[in-house]
Amino acid sequence: MTLVDQFSRKINYLRVSVTDRCDLRCVYCMKEKMTFLPKSEILTLEEIERLCDNFIELGVSKIRITGGEPLVRRDIIELIKKLNFKKNKTNLKEITLTSNGTLLAKHAKELKKFGVNRINISLDTIDPDKYKEITRFGNLDNVIKGIKEAIKNKIKVKINVVALKNFNENELEKLIIWANKLKIDITFIEVMPMEETGIDRYHQFIPLDQTFNKLNSIFEFKKIDKSTGGPALYYQSKKLSINVGFITPLSNNFCSSCNRIRITSTGKLFMCLGQNDYIDFRDILRNDYGNDYIKEKINYALKIKPKRHDFLIEENNKPYIQRHMNVTGG
Ligand code: SAM
Ligand code: SF4
Repeated sequence: MTLVDQFSRKINYLRVSVTDRCDLRCVYCMKEKMTFLPKSEILTLEEIERLCDNFIELGVSKIRITGGEPLVRRDIIELIKKLNFKKNKTNLKEITLTSNGTLLAKHAKELKKFGVNRINISLDTIDPDKYKEITRFGNLDNVIKGIKEAIKNKIKVKINVVALKNFNENELEKLIIWANKLKIDITFIEVMPMEETGIDRYHQFIPLDQTFNKLNSIFEFKKIDKSTGGPALYYQSKKLSINVGFITPLSNNFCSSCNRIRITSTGKLFMCLGQNDYIDFRDILRNDYGNDYIKEKINYALKIKPKRHDFLIEENNKPYIQRHMNVTGG
């Protein structure tokens, strides 16, 4: 069974945001003062599991848990344990996580035990002062400890770096060399205009095609055919033993190969990260509609999945996306 959208794209990848809360306030993601949702609005573990079951039965084979920061949710390990039980007995083949890594040292062992073999960790700088600045108060040591603990537990780590003008644009080479020493892949991402954060994204945005050219002159990259089904283009270099990826939603659109949909922590299904339309499953789950009705709604969602996002970054231009990145996850 495969989910196929109106543009014949196969959709087998579900991202599930389990909380809008976070222990950091990255300046490109959130405002300094955020109001988070009351617990009553957030899906319970049972509701998330039931929703996932329906997606899995329809053909979803990969689930990424995200947020907010997924590891701040108290019952997160319980959810992963429940999902892991379905792995390989159903269509589900992989459970992964995107995390800021601050709580990873505490959870790495259990994550591995319950089937998480790969984690994406978001880290935009390895300078402790700059880390504090970009996350508004984070402690880099916690993340480094988390990464080391994950590696120790044989979880494959990939680092995600949002490339930011006047912040880390001159640190990207250093980040590659650092990741290479730890033998972990690294991917650079363009900042996206998701709701207002108090800082105009125009002053943060670097088109990664320019960055690529600069790094290419140092590493002499060779493109590789790493089919993750994702938006990143991956490269290798004779000077490195890792893969280096570039995700360019703005400078080089990749929507024609999109394979993913996203559920927020309150049960809204967003068919596209870069559009505002959604289908709300919370009332459906809470009013005891049957699973056939849930599947009908999922199939309908695929019929209206948009062709592409319309991200645009211009000076003084309010983002048309009316939610911060922590709502839908990365
Ligand atoms: N808290 C977790 C983390 O930071 O990895 C998971 C959620 S976070 C919203 C997921 C990813 O989105 C992170 O890699 C983060 O850097 C990225 N992100 C947040 N806001 C963004 C934006 N405006 N543009 C591009 N990426 C963004
Ligand atoms: Fe939190 Fe992740 Fe957003 Fe940073 S990017 S504020 S860690 S949700």
